[in-house]
Amino acid sequence: MTTDTAAQAAYVVAALLFILSLAGLSQHKTSRSGVVWGIAGMVVALAATVGLASRSITTTGLVLIAVATAAGAGIGLWRARVVEMTGMPELIAIMHSLVGLAAAFVGWNGYLDVDAELSGSLLAIHHAEVFIGVFIGAVTFTGSVVAYLKLSARINSRPLTLPGKHVLNIGALVAFVGLTAAFVARPGMGLLIAVTVIALALGAHLVASIGGGDMPVVVSMLNSYSGWAAAASGFLLANNLLIVTGALVGSSGAYLSYIMCKAMNRSFISVIAGGFGTPAAAAEEGEQGEHREINAEETAELLGNATSVIITPGYGMAVAQAQYPVAELARKLRERGVEVRFGIHPVAGRLPGHMNVLLAEANVPYDIVLEMDEINDDFAATSVVLVIGANDTVNPAATDNPTSPIAGMPVLHVWESSNVIVFKRSMAAGYAGVQNPLFFRENTQMLFGDAKQRVEDILRGLDALDTPVPAMAGTSR
Ligand code: NDP
Repeated sequence: MTTDTAAQAAYVVAALLFILSLAGLSQHKTSRSGVVWGIAGMVVALAATVGLASRSITTTGLVLIAVATAAGAGIGLWRARVVEMTGMPELIAIMHSLVGLAAAFVGWNGYLDVDAELSGSLLAIHHAEVFIGVFIGAVTFTGSVVAYLKLSARINSRPLTLPGKHVLNIGALVAFVGLTAAFVARPGMGLLIAVTVIALALGAHLVASIGGGDMPVVVSMLNSYSGWAAAASGFLLANNLLIVTGALVGSSGAYLSYIMCKAMNRSFISVIAGGFGTPAAAAEEGEQGEHREINAEETAELLGNATSVIITPGYGMAVAQAQYPVAELARKLRERGVEVRFGIHPVAGRLPGHMNVLLAEANVPYDIVLEMDEINDDFAATSVVLVIGANDTVNPAATDNPTSPIAGMPVLHVWESSNVIVFKRSMAAGYAGVQNPLFFRENTQMLFGDAKQRVEDILRGLDALDTPVPAMAGTSR
């Protein structure tokens, strides 16, 4: 068997491993094996690619590849080990930006180093691939950098609304189509520089125009763009595995974005077009009435007397790393005969599936963790809802205030239960920057402080409920 045949066979094996990986990652129970399949696929792919490359490059080239692989793997391992769960979305966004940057470089390299054997229509196709690859790569690069800055709160998450923003976006796309035709007819560095600059500006503008509430879709859309950018590089490098892998990432990211748009009642086209149709109303600022407070002991007593409890976690649970005491609280209440369930909003936290990962880490049984649609009708018959570090995902303004920036987004109907306890540190707004009328409802009480500490206080309070109070000296005869 020649090296080429062996490498192509290895590529097929790697592609199958990637498909198995995606299938595994689609369910909590199989997600660990999904990760293992993915690692195995990447090892096979790297080995086959280096094997293929070794036929045509010098020893110095091979040494450079080894150094780059070791450096990349080292940085990847280090970041993955030190990253907090709350930092995952930013890490993913910055990784997408690297895929985009690499695709743009591959495109530029394809322009500077054209295969001398190409001519006629094959050369025209090559130049079209270069142009499209640079465009998608550059859009992905700056779009992901802006997403990183928004997710890490280095810039404001509110949407940027330049005058005529949609005209700017459409103008950039029209310019891209025109420049592509010109470049294929007469390739020149000036045209390639022009499309690079336009794509860099378009990527930054598209993501900057999207408001906080719609950021989850942006993260999965950028995931999809990075896949298409990799596929474009695959065409340029004539690498079948890169084409297949890029298409897998591109299409699964697009499908995830579609599912998230449906879950959030947003138009897919509006979001990818940079917030088309986003309500222009300003977020209501300031407090909207009186709020009531409760302490941990009183909460423990309320829970001790409850028959059913629903816990709706959000980003604050991840910040506080409160999943372990929360899991312990669920266990203790169930032991006391209370029905306990978790209600998970599809965009709670900062990453699709964020809450599910945290609860699985703390060994909360899967069968009491329900999706929003499965639990939303049950709040009305529930004694107590614990809103642990969630805010936008439990905001009633989304359902009853058509001028709210999050109007139309389905939310957990926690306010329908008899008692709502909100765990947070202050009266500050959530990620979308919108005040939450839930905090001022008659049946809502605020439990201020770090969510982990407050849940631990409640656990102690529950223990105290079970401990018989010793009779005071002299009171019994
Ligand atoms: P939010 O981000 O709306 O609110 C989180 C709340 O947690 C805040 O009100 C904060 O209040 C509180 N909090 C923070 N730290 C602590 C702590 N240590 N202890 C107690 N409370 C704390 O959370 P949700 O999960 O409800 O909503 C997610 C938001 O993020 C949505 O707007 C969604 O669109 C967006 N988003 C989601 C992504 C995804 O894929 N899931 C990706 C990108 C954005 P305080 O500061 O007063 O404590």
